[in-house]
Amino acid sequence: MEYDCIIVGGSFAGLAAARHLHGDVLLIEKGEIGAGQTSACGTPLEVVEQLGLSDSVQQIHRSLVLHTASARIEYRLPEPYCTFDYARFCRGLLTDVGAHVVRAVVRGLDGNEVITDEGRFRGRVLVDASGWRAVLARSIDPAFVDARAMSFGLETEVADVDDEGLHFWLDPAVVPQGMGWLFPAGGRARIGLASHPGDTDLRQRLLSFLEARGLACGSRIHGGYYPWRLRPATLGSLFIVGDAAGQCLALTGEGIRPALVFGDFCGRVIRKLLDGQLTHQAALDEYRGFVSQRQRNFSGMLVAQRLLDAIPNKQVTWLGRLGSLRPMRNLFFPFYERAADPAKLTSASNLLPAAR
Ligand SMILES: Cc1cc2nc3c(=O)[nH]c(=O)nc-3n(C[C@H](O)[C@H](O)[C@H](O)COP(=O)(O)OP(=O)(O)OC[C@H]3O[C@@H](n4cnc5c(N)ncnc54)[C@H](O)[C@@H]3O)c2cc1C
Repeated sequence: MEYDCIIVGGSFAGLAAARHLHGDVLLIEKGEIGAGQTSACGTPLEVVEQLGLSDSVQQIHRSLVLHTASARIEYRLPEPYCTFDYARFCRGLLTDVGAHVVRAVVRGLDGNEVITDEGRFRGRVLVDASGWRAVLARSIDPAFVDARAMSFGLETEVADVDDEGLHFWLDPAVVPQGMGWLFPAGGRARIGLASHPGDTDLRQRLLSFLEARGLACGSRIHGGYYPWRLRPATLGSLFIVGDAAGQCLALTGEGIRPALVFGDFCGRVIRKLLDGQLTHQAALDEYRGFVSQRQRNFSGMLVAQRLLDAIPNKQVTWLGRLGSLRPMRNLFFPFYERAADPAKLTSASNLLPAAR
């Protein structure tokens, strides 16, 4: 059987694309949808509201707090962020998805056939939403994933933390060329460290970071890579979205909002392709164009990451203070938001009904 579309990856990017598609559409995910949380699940509140998933919100945050070696600088966020429950969020998105869902591990691609441990599936349109490993794109081009352009993050969730705001540490004593974070989530908190050069040896540092704050490590430590540079959004006839296409913002590591916004757009374009309004090539071009219009916002964040990693921490503090001034905030936050504007997301009520 040939499917109209096959999407690999049932997390933020894959589900956001799949919401727009009906008919013979297959979503392949290696785990149970909503079970494989790898992130701190911090995102703008508007994202969650726009998708009608407010019941997944655990806590709302109105400030961002930057900790350097010598200072604590608080910024009022122009729009609130929230921390949410990953399982609820994904299962909520899944209710809008009409695709057949198959649980299988994808091994690669052979022409238009997706090879999995459950057999082969042929698709007319293929989407790689498999996260940083980009399992389909890498099968076409083994050099597609540049291991030098990814951060590695390690995180745990601890109980009994009564705090608010999204806290970030830029302090080489915590982690050199990287960051620490503490995101409260309704009486609990997700606390982690990331290394921008991708150093995976963070466990002991994380334990010391927790100990210094009088916190015991949670029962589980999870983590993984996240890219900090955009990769091609298409490869041949393949659509690539989310972390698979490097659509994660450098410095902050915010990848959920981009995965959803680009996944949403990718799904809308493929819908037009399946409905015969666009050729395959025109759909690829439209999606790639949407991503490239935001290239400068992603590049700007990468420049900021490189700069803050390179300069002495005293200057990071100085820049942090400068950034708290209103004119600087008025420049930075809209620039940052424009990388993946939550207003571009399609609300559940605006999803087109099944065409067939
Ligand atoms: C420790 C950590 C904390 C983070 N915290 C935040 C945060 O608070 N806010 C934020 O915005 N971003 C955060 N990020 C980044 C964010 O997690 C990613 O950018 C985001 O998850 C990307 O979504 P995605 O759908 O593209 O990929 P993923 O969420 O990685 O989803 C990929 C999906 O594909 C499936 N898959 C992979 N390979 C296969 C295969 N071979 N076969 C079948 N299925 C497969 C996976 O099971 C998964 O469900 C964090 C990252 C890390 C590592």
